[in-house]
Amino acid sequence: CGIVGYAGNEEAKDILIKGLKKLEYRGYDSAGIALAAEDGVKLYKEKGRIATLEESINGDASGTLGIGHTRWATHGPPSQLNAHPHQSSSGRFTLVHNGVIENYAQLTREYLQDVDLASDTDTEVIVQLVELFVEEGMNVEESFSKTLSLLKGSYATALVDKENNDTIYVGKNKSPLLVGVGDGVNVVASDSMAMLHVTKEFVELMDQEMVIVTRDKVEIKSLEGEIISRESFTAELDE
Ligand code: GLU
Repeated sequence: CGIVGYAGNEEAKDILIKGLKKLEYRGYDSAGIALAAEDGVKLYKEKGRIATLEESINGDASGTLGIGHTRWATHGPPSQLNAHPHQSSSGRFTLVHNGVIENYAQLTREYLQDVDLASDTDTEVIVQLVELFVEEGMNVEESFSKTLSLLKGSYATALVDKENNDTIYVGKNKSPLLVGVGDGVNVVASDSMAMLHVTKEFVELMDQEMVIVTRDKVEIKSLEGEIISRESFTAELDE
């Protein structure tokens, strides 16, 4: 299972699919991508092979920012419905996640009694909590960091907001995730190998950090909001 994300100038679709293929070695049962364009965020997801996903995406699917996911089901059977990305009820937020949210049932009881959950996954609580806290008045960054601080378990996760679709919000705890940096392009990946076709410069992330990624900016923060600076390293790998 794995995650990729792209914020740049080029069409994201093929770059994300190529990245997901590089992560196939980790095993998966479904795959999906979300593309952000002028007219909103579009989801494409399928049970089965990445090749199946690729065939299901129409030729004019477009967007220069996107996130992608291969799923290895832990909560809810492999199906198109349970495949990632997942969206919040209003459709505003779109999210991918690797790992296991151990307290998802408790979080659902405590916060999401009034929300109709669309999938059987533990993941969906993350995206629904982000929407809930935004509806209650928080900005997206505050809501995302509050949500991450409530989660118990492991996650590598990436979130897109259709009302601010030049940004990928990233979080990590006990699951691998890196940010790749380039000139006018930044990416996210579970393994640097997945995005070597975009950049060889990567920044490591630590547990309980969040990152705000646009094509011009990578800002790492603690969940309390302090800015963290960290040098990138060059991946000594061939594509
Ligand atoms: N626990 C999540 C699910 O079952 C994510 C699984 C994964 O890491 O791919 O959908």
